[in-house]
Amino acid sequence: MNNVYLSIGTNMGDRFENLQHAVKLLTENKEIEVVHTSSVYETAAVGYTDQADFLNIAVHIKTSYSSSEMLKICQWIESELGRVREFRWGPRIIDLDILLYNHEDIETESLIVPHPRMYERAFVLVPLIEITPTPVGEQLQRAHDIMQQMDCKEEGVTLWRASAELKMMQPVN
Ligand code: AMP
Repeated sequence: MNNVYLSIGTNMGDRFENLQHAVKLLTENKEIEVVHTSSVYETAAVGYTDQADFLNIAVHIKTSYSSSEMLKICQWIESELGRVREFRWGPRIIDLDILLYNHEDIETESLIVPHPRMYERAFVLVPLIEITPTPVGEQLQRAHDIMQQMDCKEEGVTLWRASAELKMMQPVN
């Protein structure tokens, strides 16, 4: 089984329901075991800032899928939730990124892992660190080291709903 960390973000519609829906689609897949979902964090948009705030979570899964298969699953979930790619950095119903795939360094035309911008983004690192209290491997250790030097308040990341309050697996509709 492959250990994979995903980042999921949304800033359109019912944001919490979008997160629940994405996690539900992961859970329903027989090749995927959802091990852990983080608390939900809210973050002001970076890049194109004239848009609604994002909700973000990190998810730890175990899967038999290869990294390229997993990318296709992420893109399938995005399209299931009705994501239309309008412009980069713009508002989105849902965005699923592969942060880490085992301890591998992957660079293909369609996939770069660790995710190229994960170490710069507090909204990715904060939930990831929450679900990896004991970092294993160089990549997670680096994430923890960078996080220690970041000021989350300054980066605009606030706890929106603690994981204990979450009922992520609750079916939508
Ligand atoms: P985004 O706008 O963030 O959804 O970007 C999606 C594009 O990034 C897709 O064309 C993917 O092929 C590419 N990509 C490269 N690396 C990754 C990754 N680690 N996770 C998800 N998408 C990736």
